[in-house]
Amino acid sequence: MQGLMMDTPLLISSLIQHAERHHGDTEIVSRLVEGGIHRYDYRGAHRRARKLANALGALGVEKSDRIGTLAWNGFRHLEAFYGISGMGAVMHTINPRLFPEQITYIVNHAEDSYVLFDLTFAPLIEKLAPMCKSVKGWIVMTDRAHMPQAGIPNLLCYEDLVNAQPDDYEWPELDERTASSLCYTSGTTGNPKGVLYSHRSTVLHAYAAALPDALNISSRDVMLPVVPMFHANAWALPYSCALVGTKMVLPGYQLDGKSLFELFETERVTVSAGVPTVWLALLQHMSQNKLKFSTMNRTVIGGSACPPAMIRSFQEDFGVQVLHAWGMTEMSPLGTVSTFKSKHLDLPKDSKLAIQSKQGRSIFGVDLKIVDDAGKELPWDGKAFGNLLVRGPWISNGYFKGEGGDPLRKDEKGRDWFPTGDVATIDPDGYMQITDRSKDVIKSGGEWISSIDLENAAVAHPAVAEAAVIGIRHPKWDERPLLLVVKKKDTQVTREELLKFFEGKVAKWSMPDDVVFVEQLPHTATGKLLKTKLREDFKDYKLPTA
Ligand code: ADP
Repeated sequence: MQGLMMDTPLLISSLIQHAERHHGDTEIVSRLVEGGIHRYDYRGAHRRARKLANALGALGVEKSDRIGTLAWNGFRHLEAFYGISGMGAVMHTINPRLFPEQITYIVNHAEDSYVLFDLTFAPLIEKLAPMCKSVKGWIVMTDRAHMPQAGIPNLLCYEDLVNAQPDDYEWPELDERTASSLCYTSGTTGNPKGVLYSHRSTVLHAYAAALPDALNISSRDVMLPVVPMFHANAWALPYSCALVGTKMVLPGYQLDGKSLFELFETERVTVSAGVPTVWLALLQHMSQNKLKFSTMNRTVIGGSACPPAMIRSFQEDFGVQVLHAWGMTEMSPLGTVSTFKSKHLDLPKDSKLAIQSKQGRSIFGVDLKIVDDAGKELPWDGKAFGNLLVRGPWISNGYFKGEGGDPLRKDEKGRDWFPTGDVATIDPDGYMQITDRSKDVIKSGGEWISSIDLENAAVAHPAVAEAAVIGIRHPKWDERPLLLVVKKKDTQVTREELLKFFEGKVAKWSMPDDVVFVEQLPHTATGKLLKTKLREDFKDYKLPTA
């Protein structure tokens, strides 16, 4: 027997429609690439998203066409999120921090018909345009007065296009499984792979992400997503914020500590989200200038492991609760968030910190398990570690155009699971902790050493700004850990002092064999340590223990 309930489709357009109707005067504030601040509200955003849909229609854009964006977090990019997907086309966010050859590859692979871009990228587009054959027009997201002088063919002005259109536009009632947006993983190995979200997956994820035990956002919050809209759709915050009517503050390209702090204060931001590396700069700026937040009370940190030392500093020095989260582009991206259960609330500070240092419990909709190499499920005892697999309605079941083959694995009941490439433990309360990416684990004499554990221990030292640990070939042990350290400005620490600092914090056999001080560490386009490069750079390194 079928239920007797309406089958209204879950559509992205319904999010912005709801936001306009119920939170029409809630502000959206953007720091402009052209300079200055732009303000409007959900009503204005919805109106302009409809005008954009009309403008794209007038250019001949049809359902399923891919429209690229190369842009920072700003109001026009937000209009693209809703206008493009809402009309049934596919919004394709491109990470401008990728190498130009990768961007060209991605635009060609996606066959973008138009690309919207921020002014800052005009020189880049000028270089790429001749190689991007599918692109019929390059739309610069600015007004007539700021149009660049660059030699870009078929250059169009966003404001001219949008202003020429009426705002009466009826969002089509699409099948909820229709593709809505496309985001390529950075592809540190092999070609970038396109993750193709649907309206249904996006709306379900937006619901789950907003819940109190997830990102806990509401219409009483002011959210400043530092995470870029080209990194897994800014962790899908533009959707969750519209769903609950959260004021949004979009910081543009100025992501340095000083600019961010200024916006946090002037816009009375209550919650933010970003990768650990951006917080490093902000916290340093705040410490150096003895600054305190007046309204910020929590922040989501994910993308790579958030060191306990950073969680402690946020909470104890700056009064900001950390929500440690884990996910991936293929998961829309949210999988787990570390929030307390009631029984944890009265625990001593250090026990609570240990819970927050884990990547957290799965949000409803994400099924998790850890398995050994033979695919056998491992216990949730907080000790056994294995390959982390996931399934659920907002998790990919393949890549755009089949790139890289079928990623899924079947279990004994024939159900599909997505292998995350991460190695993790899960404790009896369901808190998952990432040990490492499987390719980064250090295999030493039959034991596995977690590079994340060692990095977390290193950054707890007051003189360490950032640390990376990689495995170095060893004649007896196969691999041994090498610690690479960036010192904080104006601090001193020796190799011996650092090694001594590890004593009692990690098992003796997992201590690094050596320390190298470096000026900086390489990062991926999404702010993770680029370990493939480090392994390449240090492949001939001789450990003193070898
Ligand atoms: P990419 O940067 O490769 O395009 P993602 O942003 O999707 O892709 O990266 C997902 C990966 O990032 C996860 O599989 C995991 O290895 C890592 N990651 C994300 N969040 C965390 C976290 N909180 N702790 C540790 N690792 C994390």
